[in-house]
Amino acid sequence: MLNIVLFGPPGAGKGTQAEFLIQSFGLIHLSTGDLLRSEIAAGTKLGLEAKAFMEKGELVPDAVVIGMIKSKLEANKDAKGFIFDGFPRTVDQAKALDELLDANGTPISGMLSLEVEKQELINRLLNRGKISGRADDQDQSIIENRINVYNEKTSPLIEYYKKQNKHFGINGMGTIEEIAGRLKAVVDKL
Ligand code: ADP
Repeated sequence: MLNIVLFGPPGAGKGTQAEFLIQSFGLIHLSTGDLLRSEIAAGTKLGLEAKAFMEKGELVPDAVVIGMIKSKLEANKDAKGFIFDGFPRTVDQAKALDELLDANGTPISGMLSLEVEKQELINRLLNRGKISGRADDQDQSIIENRINVYNEKTSPLIEYYKKQNKHFGINGMGTIEEIAGRLKAVVDKL
């Protein structure tokens, strides 16, 4: 089983690159951002709770996203592996994920960390906002807040996975194909 954490700040290209990896390796894509947006679209209680946090660029509480991931893992017991995209985003989420996967005997194979300069992140997000209409991608101050939240709460995960010898830094600047090639080269070795 191949379990990959696709990691990086907002706008690093996780969703785009996940598409390539799914096709190349036949994995199931679990994006907490996508899952939360479908809950909002479906008007569920969970969606309503999450919406207020997402609109401000804050993290949704750990218990909510961990519960979502747990049920997806249980619903896909026969999977060849998973790509976790936008999850984990805090050390507590990473610990919970390790526990959930250990219970199945299928740990994380590697954490692929996309590295992109801050100004490029802001440009990509504003551009995505124009195309997708995502409100959190259209406001510079919300974008800056998401990057700050990433630096404060999420970037410590790099150390977390380094300690487990599972961290792979990947240059996230360049064309989509170039970056996909760099990721594939690492995953091929896992
Ligand atoms: P991006 O990584 O480009 O900011 P996402 O779609 O991954 O976009 O996430 C959008 C928003 O959803 C985040 O700003 C946050 O509010 C919420 N979110 C997504 N994943 C998580 C998570 N694992 N923990 C807490 N909040 C999350």
